[in-house]
Amino acid sequence: MRIAFIGLGNMGGPMALNLMKAGHSLVVHDVRKETAAPHLERGATWADSPRAAAPGGELILTSLPGPPEVEAVALGENGIIHGAAPGAIYADLSTGSPSVIRRIHALFEAKGVHVLDAPVSGGVWGARSGKLQVMVGGDEKLFRQIKPALEAIGDKVGLMGDIGSGTIAKLVHNMIGICTRQVVAEAFTLGVKAGVRPEALLAAVKGGSFGQGLLLTQVLPEIVFKGDFDTVRFALRLARKDLGLATELARECNVPMEMAALAEQTLVEALARGWGDKDFSAPFMIQEERAGVRVRT
Ligand code: NAD
Repeated sequence: MRIAFIGLGNMGGPMALNLMKAGHSLVVHDVRKETAAPHLERGATWADSPRAAAPGGELILTSLPGPPEVEAVALGENGIIHGAAPGAIYADLSTGSPSVIRRIHALFEAKGVHVLDAPVSGGVWGARSGKLQVMVGGDEKLFRQIKPALEAIGDKVGLMGDIGSGTIAKLVHNMIGICTRQVVAEAFTLGVKAGVRPEALLAAVKGGSFGQGLLLTQVLPEIVFKGDFDTVRFALRLARKDLGLATELARECNVPMEMAALAEQTLVEALARGWGDKDFSAPFMIQEERAGVRVRT
């Protein structure tokens, strides 16, 4: 495929190289020309702007810092919109904003150019090894058209829904990853300050139900998606006891536990509703109430 690739940073650089290794011919652009050296060495063509890179590209890809750069590169004076040929497909690999990509989609469609969002996950390691999760939003026929090319950068390429859905999925993914780091920081500072070695804590967490990934493989599909909070695998009253013991230990050790304290309050509310003998996933329903939505398949 003839591909225009704009944004050759930590992620874009290796992704563009993998596309070349898979046999695609690339035109590349970045505001920092030096980022293109490895690609030009291997036969890619340089373009001086996104507008100059786009003509001839059956597929145009961008990997840019965020929404302002994506808007500038897509819609600016020297933007893709002024260079892309009707029938071409533009897919944005950046982590961006659903509303921005939807606006770009509408403006491009008016010119006969198709748009998909396709943010990726897997870090620079995944970008180098071609083992990324690619979360695509947009028309299914277009998705099938570019899936083979996307498989050069990711081993898990999936359609999440309409335009913007890839970005929503990516934001959900990153929110979990980022907030979990904070919870893990609370838990490990508690564990270490209370006297256990970090390596031992890691072994315990890895070997237990959380470390086995049961939240993703069992709890979400089997309990939450089915709304089956009454079949008790672990009773809420026992989970509340455990979190209470952990926050009590944190108070003894003077370890601040903001995230745990917030979670504990929701568990207390769930118990006050008489849910002690429901499964310990039941507080999910409180968040569903607050959000005005149910997470069911
Ligand atoms: P980066 O800053 O390394 O790369 C961005 C590239 O875009 C740079 O080379 C920069 O020079 C170029 N650029 C910026 N403005 C430009 C413009 N107007 N025209 C042309 N080129 C321009 O960032 P990154 O880490 O490669 O991330 C790219 C995207 O992927 C981001 O949206 C990021 O959130 C997402 N992402 C990053 C990671 C990661 O681990 N680094 C993982 C998954 C997703």
